[in-house]
Amino acid sequence: MTTTQPLELLAPLSGVLLALDKVPDPVFSSRVIGDGLCIDPTSQTLCAPLAGVVSNIQDSGHAVSITDDQGVQVLMHIGLDTVNLAGEGFTRLVAQGERVEAGQALIEFDADYVALHARSLLTLMLVVSDEPFTVLANDLVESGQPLLRLSPGETVDTVDEEEGDALFSKPLTLPNANGLHARPAAVLAQAAKGFNASIYLHKQTQSANAKSLVAIMALQTVHGDTLQVSAAGEDADAAISALVALLAQGCGEDVAVAVVEPVPSASVLKGVCASPGSAFGQVVQVAEPELNITEKGAGEAVERAALEHALNAATEALQALQGKGAQAEIFRAHQELLEDPTLLEHAHGLLAQDKSAAFAWNSATVATVKLFQGLGNALIAERAADLSDVGQRVLKLILGIQESAWDLPERAILIAEQLTPSQTASLDTRKVLGFVTVGGGATSHVAILARALGLPAMCGVSTHVLALANGKQVLLDADKGELHLDPNLAEIEQLEASRQQQVQRRQHDLAQVALPATTRDGHHVEVTANVASLQEVEQSLTLGGEGVGLLRSEFLYLDRNRAPSPEEQADTYTAIARALGTERNLVVRTLDVGGDKPLAYVPMDAETNPFLGLRGIRLCLERPQLLREQFRAILASARLARLHIMLPMVSLLSELHLARKILEEEARAFGLNELPKLGIMVEVPSAALMADVFAPHVDFFSIGTNDLTQYTLAMDRDHPRLASQADSFHPAVLRLIATTVKAAHAHGKWVGVCGALASEALAVPVLLGLGVDELSVSVPLIPTIKATVRELDLADCQLIARQVLGLEEAAQVREALRLYHAATVETSSVVEL
Ligand code: PEP
Ligand code: MG
Repeated sequence: MTTTQPLELLAPLSGVLLALDKVPDPVFSSRVIGDGLCIDPTSQTLCAPLAGVVSNIQDSGHAVSITDDQGVQVLMHIGLDTVNLAGEGFTRLVAQGERVEAGQALIEFDADYVALHARSLLTLMLVVSDEPFTVLANDLVESGQPLLRLSPGETVDTVDEEEGDALFSKPLTLPNANGLHARPAAVLAQAAKGFNASIYLHKQTQSANAKSLVAIMALQTVHGDTLQVSAAGEDADAAISALVALLAQGCGEDVAVAVVEPVPSASVLKGVCASPGSAFGQVVQVAEPELNITEKGAGEAVERAALEHALNAATEALQALQGKGAQAEIFRAHQELLEDPTLLEHAHGLLAQDKSAAFAWNSATVATVKLFQGLGNALIAERAADLSDVGQRVLKLILGIQESAWDLPERAILIAEQLTPSQTASLDTRKVLGFVTVGGGATSHVAILARALGLPAMCGVSTHVLALANGKQVLLDADKGELHLDPNLAEIEQLEASRQQQVQRRQHDLAQVALPATTRDGHHVEVTANVASLQEVEQSLTLGGEGVGLLRSEFLYLDRNRAPSPEEQADTYTAIARALGTERNLVVRTLDVGGDKPLAYVPMDAETNPFLGLRGIRLCLERPQLLREQFRAILASARLARLHIMLPMVSLLSELHLARKILEEEARAFGLNELPKLGIMVEVPSAALMADVFAPHVDFFSIGTNDLTQYTLAMDRDHPRLASQADSFHPAVLRLIATTVKAAHAHGKWVGVCGALASEALAVPVLLGLGVDELSVSVPLIPTIKATVRELDLADCQLIARQVLGLEEAAQVREALRLYHAATVETSSVVEL
């Protein structure tokens, strides 16, 4: 950076001046952070010494940096060891990224409190960008009075460009109790400056120049963060080993243990099954390096053409990926994102300002991703992940980087913070045996794709997994949600044998898809499909599906900007009904949008608790026209299949009555003399507990265990940290299922389960035992669930169901069912094979 004009820095506080040498803290007195002054304050408001941008303000409010447009950077640190106060006594008046005027108040602090609770009140003002200066005051200063004059001149730019291929360290866990605040950050930056290499510190998707104290502080690291160091240049190797060792030792701070290998001593890491199966293989960490983006373009026309070209290439690639099923839906949605006018407008706006195509596209996508993420809504956050994924795809095309950059060894078990749908769909299944991620939930797009690929996968695993060494032999048991770090030979052999058995079983189940799902003692259960497209309906029929138990109608139109016309809606339902025929059930769920599932053409107000807000039937009753139109479209298929209409998220009887009234009016207008069957989803505890009250008024119930679990346990269904506890096997959920079935049967009504619990083979005995009449399952699992039913005795299922209802927690239920499964299903399948 170049400082050309003399610049006066104002005193940030009133007080007594001290030379830095007098500060009883070597990190400041040695000037490793930068040269400057110390003030023993008599005022309690820290003000900006210069105009600029707040380049960093610590969450704890004890330190702030201002950077002006010429790159002059000044750090102010209130008190010594004040990071330990964790924000107590400090009030931040500005936010990071905010532009401030010279003299503007930045932080207020309670001098008495700080003096009593911290080592000292001495406050530092340091010129981090290293410009030489002269001091304009002696002894006493008043806040706002000129204090330093910076001399114009050249200073060394500390922000290197990464040259050549960067090397990355293994991930490590930050041991410092208060993260990398000023002191350890200064030690790290100072050490980094000693190497002839460009060095970066990475925290998730953020990176900081490791030679810049302020950049490191701006990462806002906290204890336990997973960090990586990357370096490019002559000293890259030496820099990485030295800085990793320094970080592990606390960068000059006392830390309890040096965390070089932070994996806990436990030999099993727990997570949640995202896709069933198991595998023994070697760890492959798949952290993606940062891409190098130049801001300035080579002329608007050139850059516009480059963006156009990349967008076209990405569209072609996405079309090629739209193979079938879930994958097709996801990549079609990605393709639509590429055509989004707001996104393109944003990018073109930047091209017009002479920015490069890469910069313009990246800025547009990153800004939108941030916007989506900031809305605090799980489903929109998932769209953010999609946008980020497709954004990277285009960016790599602009930069000419090959997409298939992963050079994977054989028998790879991929470990990642998070995989994108694109990465998942393009995995080479000859080499990849499974994957494990920190983020994501069992209902994410990535989980859906993993299941479609038949790859075992586990999510919601602790960040310790990111520190496992590449090449380490591990055993992934996704069914149990376990990653074994030191598997012994016996475990491996056992797993290999059970994998072989699974393959044989799959072939066996597929060969018998045409057989009904009837228990050994002659009890028939209907196994139907959860679908979101005609294609899935067709696939379900080839896999032995006996009908559609849940058509998630909102998924038909989720990625649209405009409402589908009534004709288009009617055509879709009619085509699905025709594919099923008059002998099969078609259960169409009315729109389940609102809150967590936004629909672009139904504008909704933002809500503080979207899961508890205007969702499902509540939203539709607020906009009866929407429901009326949908009923009309659904009714067009009335005579083509055994039509059932199902209302989502019902929690009050009045909702059912209101919806029925509208349906009756529409059916009459349509000339139908018989109303289609009308049922409700049971996914709110009130509906389950009052099932006896609802039962006389419905034709059927279908239990949505996904939502029923989240509302019963008060745990967000997509929360990665709660993923292992938000378990539908919890006895509380099972008891609500039991209550519902009992009430329904007393009134001669049938009950289905269409939540993910129905797709779990382990759950089949308990669901049958509780008297569930229909299992509506995800399409690829139809053969497994049907075969499982055929191996059971209803009488045994009733016994096990009674037993598990009395257990204390989900883990006990799973264990009891596992034992039961081992004792019955596995022996019988061995006999049959
Ligand atoms: C459920 O909640 O279990 C359900 C099937 O509905 P969805 O997953 O679509 O919310
Ligand atoms: Mg639901």
